[in-house]
Amino acid sequence: MKNPTIIAIDGPAASGKSTIAEKLAKELNYLYLDTGVMYRAVTLAGLQRLPTLDDEEAVVRLSEQVDIDIRQPTKDDGRMYDVLLDGEDVTWAIRSAEVEAHVSQVSAYPGVRAAMTAQQRRIGRRGRVIMAGRDIGTVVFPEAELKIFMVASPEERARRRHIENLRRGLKSDYNEILNAMIKRDQIDSTRAVAPLRPAEDAHIIDTDGLSIDEVVERVKSLMV
Ligand code: C5P
Repeated sequence: MKNPTIIAIDGPAASGKSTIAEKLAKELNYLYLDTGVMYRAVTLAGLQRLPTLDDEEAVVRLSEQVDIDIRQPTKDDGRMYDVLLDGEDVTWAIRSAEVEAHVSQVSAYPGVRAAMTAQQRRIGRRGRVIMAGRDIGTVVFPEAELKIFMVASPEERARRRHIENLRRGLKSDYNEILNAMIKRDQIDSTRAVAPLRPAEDAHIIDTDGLSIDEVVERVKSLMV
């Protein structure tokens, strides 16, 4: 199929979704929306503004009130885009280990998912969008014409994230990353609402041992 309205890219943490989606969006002149950013921003807001994230009702209310904006990058510091939370630049703050440790709890709340899914559908309806996440092909846009589910071994994914951290000059511990990632994937794939899993009509791409360009070419070959 040529020029699909929506390209859904799902997969576990650090499976390469963002890198591939960004590159593809540039080449094809599509808008790229990384939906993980939205769940991360709600989690950060909760950590900053609520006494506890265990209060589901309060977290859901917050998710309905916050204004999350993803815009063209205004700084040249390795970011793909600016993430604004109620007008404040939180592009790097949402990548912290603290946010990563809590985001799966927050994103498992059905009310939070309803709020984020509604926003994602609004953006997707404009067309020519590549949307990356966990449930895009199964829940957000089950009608998407092209669905990709990216996988890679946990060790390879942790290695990529570790290298990315070191490149950005951050403190990084491979084993900590690996353990946190396995825990997050476990919660994301076993939650009751919109668990991480491939849609029946998704193309599964195992990126272990493939270069970024090879994965991009594989996706493009599905579009002819
Ligand atoms: O993709 P990323 O690692 O930034 O996602 C962070 C977290 O947000 C995931 O671990 C998951 O809990 C949640 N998420 C989700 N549904 C999506 C995208 C992300 O539940 N569509």
